[in-house]
Amino acid sequence: MTLSGGGNLRYDTSKGLKGLPSHGMMTEHQHRDEIVRFGKLLHQGGLVAATDGNLSVRLENGHFLCTPTVMSKGLMEPEDLVVVDERGNKVSGSRDASSEIAMHLLIYRRRPDVNAVVHAHPPTATGYAAAGIALDRALCSEIIVTLGSVPLANYETPGTQELAEALAPLVAEHDAILMANHGVVTCGPDLLNAYMNMETVEHFAKIALVTHLLGKQQTLSDQHVDKLREIRMKYHNHNQVAAAQGKD
Ligand SMILES: [Zn+2]
Repeated sequence: MTLSGGGNLRYDTSKGLKGLPSHGMMTEHQHRDEIVRFGKLLHQGGLVAATDGNLSVRLENGHFLCTPTVMSKGLMEPEDLVVVDERGNKVSGSRDASSEIAMHLLIYRRRPDVNAVVHAHPPTATGYAAAGIALDRALCSEIIVTLGSVPLANYETPGTQELAEALAPLVAEHDAILMANHGVVTCGPDLLNAYMNMETVEHFAKIALVTHLLGKQQTLSDQHVDKLREIRMKYHNHNQVAAAQGKD
C-alpha cells in the first residue's frame, strides 16, 4: 500500500548527545558545537558535497542559529555560524546566513515542536526526488514507525520564498520531505533527531532502490501498516508525556 501521513517518533536524546542536556537546556555555545559536529557527519556520510546543505536550531531567545552560505559543512568552526531573527535578518556573525534560511523559518513557524532543521542532498533520496517519486510505499516496518512516509514537494528554485511555500502543505504532518529535483529537508525536536531523520531517509531510499533493481516491491498490507501506526502513536504519546515531565 501507499502511505500517507507522517511520524513524530523521537530518538532518545540523552543517549545520543553524550553528556549534553536536552535542547532547551543547552547554551548557544553548545548548540554551535553540535551544529559543527552534525555538519561533519553530513559531509562524512556523503549526504552533502562541496558547500551543499544547511543546518539550524531554534534558540531560547526566539532567534535561530544557522550554518553560513558557501562553506563546506565538513569544515565549519563554531564561530562561522550565523544568528538570525524570525524574519531571517542577521543578528550576529561575520558570515552570511544560509541561502535556504526561509525554508527553515517556515518549518519553525508551522511546527512549534521543531527545534532543529537539516537540509541535504543525499544522492539516493535526491535521485528519487529528481525522478519525481515519493518515498511513500509501505516497504519497511521501521520506516512506518519512525517517519511514516516521505512525500515529494513540488519543485521551486532553491533559496527562494517560493521553495519554502512549496513545502508548506506538507510540513505539519511530516518530519522528512523530498524536494523535487533538489534534495531533502528533515526536522525534529533537536538536532540529533533531525540528523537521524536525514540518515533514515537516505537509508530507506537505498532499500527502495534495491527493490526496483530486483523488479519487485512486496508492500505491507493495510492491516500490518495499521499495527505499525499504533506502535508509532504509543511511542509518540510516551515521548510527549516524558517531555512534559522533563524526562526526555
Ligand atoms: Zn539544497
